Amino acid sequence: MLLDTFGRQAVDLRVSLTDRCDLRCTYCMPEQGMTWLAKPTLLTDEEVVRLVRIAVTLLGVREVRFTGGEPLLRPGLVGILTACARLQPRPELSLTTNGIGLARTAAALRGAGLDRVNVSLDTLDPRTFQRLSRRDRHHDVLAGLTAARAAGLSPIKVNTVLMRGINDHEAPDLLAWCLERGYELRFIEQMPLDPQHGWDRSTMVTAAEILDRLSTRFTVTPEPAGRRGSAPAERWIVDGGPARVGVIASVTQPFCRACDRTRLTADGQVRNCLFATGETDLRTALREGGDDPRTDARIAELWRAAMWGKKAGGGIGDPDFHQPERPMSAIGG
Ligand code: SAM
Ligand code: SF4
Repeated sequence: MLLDTFGRQAVDLRVSLTDRCDLRCTYCMPEQGMTWLAKPTLLTDEEVVRLVRIAVTLLGVREVRFTGGEPLLRPGLVGILTACARLQPRPELSLTTNGIGLARTAAALRGAGLDRVNVSLDTLDPRTFQRLSRRDRHHDVLAGLTAARAAGLSPIKVNTVLMRGINDHEAPDLLAWCLERGYELRFIEQMPLDPQHGWDRSTMVTAAEILDRLSTRFTVTPEPAGRRGSAPAERWIVDGGPARVGVIASVTQPFCRACDRTRLTADGQVRNCLFATGETDLRTALREGGDDPRTDARIAELWRAAMWGKKAGGGIGDPDFHQPERPMSAIGG
């Protein structure tokens, strides 16, 4: 199992399949000047599947979420999903995507074994979309969402980051829009993971503000405590239910004590936290070990050691907090 010294067990693996993307969301990537991961350092499809197999069969991982960068840009995605869906025990398979290209691929992804999808959508206005993502692709995201629903992916979650003065006034409209279509909306506080290092706590839109804005049109009440243990509410009941909205206070109320995640980057590095400043190299062990039957056990050992070193929290609130070298797009959000 992937345990740490604080008694947590990581069962949820986030795999970044590429650091590249067809959007340039301001909170995630600069307009230009990104340095991409060098091609030879990227895991091949077979290497990704092998590491997922080790995580699932030797380390107790139960859920695998593919992300990036933009995971739909990975040509081998359907093959990776197909192979992961054959693993025993069969992990839950999900994808976080900007939705561009989903109109073309949703049915094939579902056929390959994808269970669920999160689509990022920050605005209902195509011009605001262009301002936030620096690309004119709003229509493609909406088409992707519709295709995901038609393909039977369920639930469909929508991820939204609110930026002050740009799209923060849209919170109630976005919720109404998602409720009408049966999508589950989740607002995520902006985190200090932008490569420009332009994040500023004082201007960030907080979870409390988001709830205030939603309250102008909806009655939002916290989910009963039993559903979330002692964690701060992340899901809220809308107008008495059954509809829900997520408000993820990653900055103002981080819930690191319940963290069950482990992360694998597209170049084969394990990260035990989004905000970790160190990484553990599995790619080298994988390539040097090759088909030697002891290699899987060696990699599992490295992975366990990486998670054992996980800190109590991400430390965003600490005075000596340092933003990680890798931006969100290269970690895998
Ligand atoms: N390209 C895909 C997408 O946009 O969904 C997957 C990768 S993206 C890094 C994953 C999620 O991280 C998206 O929902 C995005 O909005 C979110 N994200 C990116 N940068 C962020 C930041 N600085 N703070 C909070 N969330 C962020
Ligand atoms: Fe691309 Fe997703 Fe980052 Fe936007 S948030 S730039 S879609 S990786």
